[in-house]
Amino acid sequence: MKTLQTSVRASETIAIGRAFVLCRNHVEQSITQGSIEEEKARFTTSLQSSTEQIEALAVDSDIFAAHLEIVQDEMLSDAVMEHIGSGSSAVEACQAACADLVAMFEALDDEYLSARADDIKDIFARIEANLTGGLQNPFEGVKEGDIIVARELLPSDMALLDLNAIRGFVTALGSTTSHVCIMARNHSLAAVVGLGDALEQISSGDMLIVDSYEGKVIINPDSQTIDSYLVRQLSLDALRSEQQQVATQTVEYEGESVAVTANAGSVDDVVKAVEAGADGVGLFRSEFLYLNSSVEPTEEEQYHVYSAAAKACNGRPLTIRTLDIGGDKAVPYLGFEREENPFLGWRAIRVSLDMEQMFCRQLRAILRASAEGDVRVMFPMIATLEELIEAKRILERCKADLTAEGVKYNENIKVGVMIETPAAVFIADTLAANCDFFSIGTNDLVQYIMAADRANVKVSHLYNPYSEAVIRAIRLTIESAQRTGIECSMCGELASDSSATELLLEAGLRKFSVNTGSIAKIKYTISKL
Ligand code: PEP
Ligand code: MG
Repeated sequence: MKTLQTSVRASETIAIGRAFVLCRNHVEQSITQGSIEEEKARFTTSLQSSTEQIEALAVDSDIFAAHLEIVQDEMLSDAVMEHIGSGSSAVEACQAACADLVAMFEALDDEYLSARADDIKDIFARIEANLTGGLQNPFEGVKEGDIIVARELLPSDMALLDLNAIRGFVTALGSTTSHVCIMARNHSLAAVVGLGDALEQISSGDMLIVDSYEGKVIINPDSQTIDSYLVRQLSLDALRSEQQQVATQTVEYEGESVAVTANAGSVDDVVKAVEAGADGVGLFRSEFLYLNSSVEPTEEEQYHVYSAAAKACNGRPLTIRTLDIGGDKAVPYLGFEREENPFLGWRAIRVSLDMEQMFCRQLRAILRASAEGDVRVMFPMIATLEELIEAKRILERCKADLTAEGVKYNENIKVGVMIETPAAVFIADTLAANCDFFSIGTNDLVQYIMAADRANVKVSHLYNPYSEAVIRAIRLTIESAQRTGIECSMCGELASDSSATELLLEAGLRKFSVNTGSIAKIKYTISKL
């Protein structure tokens, strides 16, 4: 019996099963390198087949819709063509271009964007497979109840796997934001990622215990260990099914109803959240629309997404946060420049106010969708009253334009402010008098109050949402909202932490916006208080 350990908490499940160690056998045909023109033509053909395959998969998958944007981006084909032009074969050129693009994405100081490197690898794996003899299914032979062990799992692997048949994943690479973790959380599978070379100690057929709570994999456990995990698994299963019973109910605290809404980043997320019992969407992160595209999404494209999300909410509130990007989440087409302190730089509402026309395109799309449901608009990173007033002035201008054009929208659309800067906390009473609701973004608020970068492990002991200073800021914000009579929600990660639920309720919070996987847990916790 051996134990492997990581510090990454990928999901909240325990699995016991046999290891299926993934072996990617490329049946490569021996290919002789042709002339530059021949290699370019081979690449073009395989790019075309890859695009067609991804197009078919994108019909019902957000992941492949994002792949489609990337594979159609000229940056990708230009990079390969350049390598072929300097004498590489099509395969070598793909490998070199892939390495360049992956390095570029991994260098970005943003967990979500650096995880995009997986998409690039995935797309190039497909193009190369199409170049060298076709795609093989590396999961042939996986049996019901197996645990997939792989150096790395890419988004398209998920399309080949029957996620209802397997019990979990163990990988050498990956972080909490990698696709494998997102899929594990969405499908309640166990996952331990980031084990590094220690993974080589696992062989196909080994019995594994994958404990996602502890980031632990036990190889060939003795019967006593298996028994103790079986007991733990039974009690966790019982707790989860008890939690599920309240997932679709409304919950109360001290006689007042408490809304448990969800955080979402796509229409698909909204559909899943509603199925999971969410009382609406408290945070729709609209930036993914901009990040997944090589050009700014048009008003029409945005309108379709927001209106589909509103319909999926089916009468429940949908809170759309306007674009929240910044120096760290740079979008090439918006002309971002490298900044010394990106988190203190040109981001979120600051960008929107400086790019009024782009802001208007987004606001118009949100307003148009407000005719189709309880759509609300929320501004990120507000630090001054002037920013809020200016954002509202632009919103009013968009309303007037739509009225003049005879386009329908909700004239009384609710306007909210994210409280995620210390400045916003200190002027919360003034902001409250000028908006309809607050949502506390603890992910940023903690880093700004504690002056500790949310992604820097060296200062992670300071990045603590339970710090006295943060708790006082949360209380101040809720009190200001209560005094003015506006709604106050919380959409930062602290809202999904059931250890904080009672404290937040006692402080007066009556609306939580949580990860879809935490809806049942938070509703259950509230119902038991
Ligand atoms: C937050 O800061 O708490 C928040 C929800 O916003 P994001 O994590 O998208 O910055
Ligand atoms: Mg934030």
